[in-house]
This record gives sequence, C-alpha cells and structure tokens, in this order.
Amino acid sequence: MTTTDISREKSAELFEKAKHYFPGGVNSPVRAFKSVYGTPLFIERGDKAHLWDADGNEFIDFCCSWGPLILGHNNPEIRTAVEAQLSKGLSFGAPTALENQLAELILKNNSLIDKIRFVSSGTEAVMSAIRLARGYTKRDKIVKFDGCYHGHSDSLLVKAGSGLVTFGETSSSGVPKAFAAETIVISLNDKEALKQVFTDFKDQIAAVIIEGIPANNGLLIQDPEYIHFLREITQQNGTLLIFDEVITGFRIGFEGAAKYYGIKPDILTYGKIIGGGMPVGAYGASNELMSHISPEGTVYQAGTLSGNPVAMAAGIAALSLLAQPDFYSNLEKTTQAFVADLRNFIETNNLEVQLFTVGSIFWFAFTAQPTIQRADQIDPASMEKYKKMHRELLNRGIYFGPSGYEVGFISAAHTAEDLALAKDALKQALLVAFQ
Ligand SMILES: *Cc1c(COP(=O)(O)O)cnc(C)c1O
Repeated sequence: MTTTDISREKSAELFEKAKHYFPGGVNSPVRAFKSVYGTPLFIERGDKAHLWDADGNEFIDFCCSWGPLILGHNNPEIRTAVEAQLSKGLSFGAPTALENQLAELILKNNSLIDKIRFVSSGTEAVMSAIRLARGYTKRDKIVKFDGCYHGHSDSLLVKAGSGLVTFGETSSSGVPKAFAAETIVISLNDKEALKQVFTDFKDQIAAVIIEGIPANNGLLIQDPEYIHFLREITQQNGTLLIFDEVITGFRIGFEGAAKYYGIKPDILTYGKIIGGGMPVGAYGASNELMSHISPEGTVYQAGTLSGNPVAMAAGIAALSLLAQPDFYSNLEKTTQAFVADLRNFIETNNLEVQLFTVGSIFWFAFTAQPTIQRADQIDPASMEKYKKMHRELLNRGIYFGPSGYEVGFISAAHTAEDLALAKDALKQALLVAFQ
C-alpha cells in the first residue's frame, strides 16, 4: 500500500536557505535528492542505527554516512576518544603519537602494505596513489574501469567513450582534455579489453586502478578469475595495480577486497571507515614503493591537517573495535540472514529484483538478470522502481541513500529489532515499487 509522505517542512525550509549558500543547496551533489522524490532531509542527530531529521522524523539508517559508520552513530568508544583529544588540542601540524598508534593498528593487521601515509579524504588518497605510480614507473597513462568511482581528482573524472578500449572523455567540465587523454577507460570483468589495452599501450601504463569490489555504481562483484588475471597482466607489463579500498577497506576486514580475492595489489587506498566518522584517507604500499614519497623520495605529497589528532583518535577507537575477534564474521552473518529473508520474499512474490551482497554491503538491482558485473548492464530505466521504493522506505522510517546506484550498509549498531522492522518496511516498499 502506498503511504502518505512524512512531514518535511523544516527540512524543506532549511534546503531553501541552503540554496542561497551552496550550489544546489549542498556540499556534495548526491545529497540533493535529485534521483529520488522530495527534498533532502536535514539530519539533526544520530544514535546507534537511528537518525533524526529536523522535523523530528526517526529513521533506521542504511546509508551510514556512505560507509564510514560501520559502528553506527554516536559510538561511545569513539566519542570518548574524540572528547579526550579535544581538551588536548585540535591540530598541531607536527607529529603525534596518535599517528603511530593508528598506523600500528593497521599495519599489524594488514599484510599487504609495509608503510602508510595519512591524508584527509579518499579523493586525496587516490590522487596521491596515482602520482606515486606515475613517479615510480616513469609512465603517464592510467587505466580505470567504467563504473568505478575514485573520488573527484582530474585524472579520474573520466568516463568511457565508445569502443572496447578508449581514451576517456571528461565526465566533468573543467577537466583538461590532455588529462583525460592520459586515462584509458575499459569495462569491468572483461579480459579481452585488458589484453587489448596492454597491446595498444605497451610500456606506457603506469597503473591500473580498480575498486576491488566496485560498490559506487551498484555492487558489481567481479569474477575472482578475472581479478587474478588483472594481477598477472599488470605484473607482466611492469604496471602497478592500485586497489581502491576506500569503501571495502575495513568494511570486509582489515585486508579488504584484496584478501577476499587472495591477491596482493601494489598500492592500496583507504578512507571512510579508517577515520571512524572523521575525515581521514590513507594510501599504503611496500617499503620500496613508499620510499619514493617525499621527504624520502621525489613524489611530493603533503597536508596541513594530515594525521589530524582528533581524526586519528577516532580512527584508533574505531579500528580497535573492528580488530576484535569475530567482529566481521558476526556482521556478515547478520547481513546474510537479512539478505536471505528478503531474497525469499522476492522469489515468493516473483519480483524482478536482485539483491547482491558482500560482507555487510548490499544492493538492490531492479532487473531479472542474475548477475551484474559491468556498469553497462545496469538499466537506467530500472531506477524508477528504486525511486518509488526509496519514498516508501522514508515514509516507513527507513533511510536509504538517495540514489539507486548507491549500496546499503549494515552496521554493528543495527539490532535484531531494527533489522526486523527494516525487512517489513522493505517488503512493503518493494511491493509498492512493482505496483
Ligand atoms: C568514497 C570513495 C572515494 C572518495 O572518497 P572521499 O572521501 O569522498 O573523497 C574514492 N574511492 C572510493 C572507492 C570511494 O568509495
């Protein structure tokens, strides 16, 4: 049954105001609710898996700030750690023991990297990783995949042209054509395209960058065999493999998607969860590769607020909790049970929708196709159904990301009761979407 819309008076008012201050009324585009019904909800506070908006509506949150909040909102350990740091100072622009602590926590639990560098966002981590790859290999070209998001640095705001292997076309105005010409875009899960790219651009490719498990444009789970092939072909060509684990890092374990596939990429990038809700990014690699970063090496990279003490304190508190035995297996079990129940419902009702999942990530795809591994397999028209579902979910107290291309996250703060309520709401919302 369709519902009546929740009251959004205060949010709508705030949005009107915000439009005077910010382009489109927001500080990051997807927040503007352009792909779903209504105006954005202005959030007042969060606690555990729950959110409250300016109108006093309460929601169970499956967006989780786009991934960072694997421990939910207002986690007591993170809050205490942040509060303790606040009284000591917000920023020094000098080294602190906190940076060592967070690095130790990561490196002890991650066999893929020897050294790490902290930055302040995922975008920055990826941009720096690309520079390192170029500096190290003394090559300029990079390869990225259609359907992978790596933040908004110039080299990566590039989309596929037509054809198997194409120079990218800029996906944003303001990106020089010359930059786009250094980025080659190919399809995911396509060995032929990879072979072709290394034939066409022999000895010119510094790095191939991929989201190990692409989760920014649907959840496009790659064939393990393909990822192993990617590892081999990059190695054979002296090209570095960059795994962008800004979403998957610390989401499916400390060793992320690389561990999931059992491969060792050359450079890894992190973000989101690593800062426990504060702005932190990082990139890491072998000692040898990292020795090329300044001040040791010639690849320049710096940051006024890099390794910020408050952010480090939050990261340490968060990762300490994640490092506890069974944290990830429990969260995965919870997610699997949630997904299994919904899949049953989908099957029983013969709905043309798939529910994909990895770790504690899930994604609804409104299609009859049993697998989706490439961006061009997503039918844009199917997003109409997501739009309807999204509206029904909000009206039933469930907050999903405002776009059907975005995945959902389950946090350790989601209780059995939260998930039971969410499942009921999802079932009703799905039926409405197919009316
Ligand atoms: C979120 C994300 C980024 C960008 O991180 P920001 O902190 O938003 O700059 C880069 N790569 C991947 C895979 C991401 O999910």
